[in-house]
Amino acid sequence: MELADKISKICLEKFDSLPKTGKPNVEFEWTILSTIVKVEISDGDPKLAVVALGTGTKCLGSTELSDKGDIINDSHAEVLARRAFVRYLLNEMKKSLSNRSNVFNCCKDIGKFVLKESVSFHFFTTHSPCGDASIYARSDVLNDEPTAKRFRSTGGTSDVGTIVEHADGMTGGKLVSSADGDDLMAQHVGMIRTKPGKGIRTLSLSCSDKMARWNVLGVQGSLLMSLLDAPIYLESIVLCAGTDHNREAIERALWKRWDEEVIQETVNSPFRQNRPKIVIADNGKHFRFRKNRSVPSGSKFQPAPGGIVWCSGVDKELEVEIGGRRQGITKKILGTPAARLKISKIELFSAFVAVRNELLAFPKDNLGDGTNCSDVGMNLSSDAGTVVADCSSLRYVDAKALSRAYHEQWTRLRTRVFRIWSEKPSSLLNFTLESGALSKDRKY
Ligand SMILES: [Zn+2]
Repeated sequence: MELADKISKICLEKFDSLPKTGKPNVEFEWTILSTIVKVEISDGDPKLAVVALGTGTKCLGSTELSDKGDIINDSHAEVLARRAFVRYLLNEMKKSLSNRSNVFNCCKDIGKFVLKESVSFHFFTTHSPCGDASIYARSDVLNDEPTAKRFRSTGGTSDVGTIVEHADGMTGGKLVSSADGDDLMAQHVGMIRTKPGKGIRTLSLSCSDKMARWNVLGVQGSLLMSLLDAPIYLESIVLCAGTDHNREAIERALWKRWDEEVIQETVNSPFRQNRPKIVIADNGKHFRFRKNRSVPSGSKFQPAPGGIVWCSGVDKELEVEIGGRRQGITKKILGTPAARLKISKIELFSAFVAVRNELLAFPKDNLGDGTNCSDVGMNLSSDAGTVVADCSSLRYVDAKALSRAYHEQWTRLRTRVFRIWSEKPSSLLNFTLESGALSKDRKY
């Protein structure tokens, strides 16, 4: 069996094995399932395991965001799976401190975690990512008219890209545009967009755009980058059998939409332009809750209101999400740590601080001979040049900046390649772990 088929099979089986709570009603609801799979080569045989999973299609509007890092803004399956993956990586880092991880080596001499060479990660999803990857004229159906002719360009500036009219695949994502009078729903290809949705517009970017960013900066995010020697990239993107898709559109959305030369000039080691293999599973196994299935006539077909998050090897592997919080919370605990998902910003921040403190607790003499130490110094030092021994009192935004390499790469990428990238108000990133703990006593 092909690797993609195996990946698809174990991901669907993992989803099926989870309890019913949080799953859609098969009569009238649909959702998206995304997962990250670890492939470990040992004795020549690949061993596969699902390590992170998310389902969901919802996203909060700009007025619903929290400045305490305790609510998930973006609950699309792809984003929930990535957050679960970050939680998984932090747990593996913690295990590697005592040599119990089969994912990382803990290199105490350089103060970094290093991904084992035998391990790679693969992404599985049951829907084309929203945004750019979803705009296409279908090429997977027999049609007398060549695909190229069915893309009708309406011109425009080079910055705007080509508009696809009569597209079979369309996105509800809105263009991030600064010009007044632009049609934000136009199906221009190659553009940065916010997520689809009714009501108050969200500030969260489309999954196509976020995944394109993972393909340069890595899927681990800025916090974890300060603990790693190199970013972690996804080796392949596997689409479930029966998923509406267009391979060219996905490739374009994830890395091909930018000028190769500009990317080369912009991206510095240890970062690179990752080009994951796009593979469509061919094992005939469909996702039960996919959007493009037939449902009993007369029922109101709609997205499921909540989502599921699952993470391998941690305490409380499964969480059910609704509105960016844990499902089923009472008014009494609203706004307290008990209402938070373990994949919320503040909880991941807290787990990061714990791992980092343990790593730094090793005697400084072991921090290398100067060659490697310069890199460690760069990542573990504050601007004043002193080592931030304990970052538990830092603001979240300052902890994110601990990896200067990540921060600088992102700045260059945003300026030269992505150009228009909506940023959330900086006030949303000013929280500290202490302010989160205080919210325990507040009543909402
Ligand atoms: Zn999405």
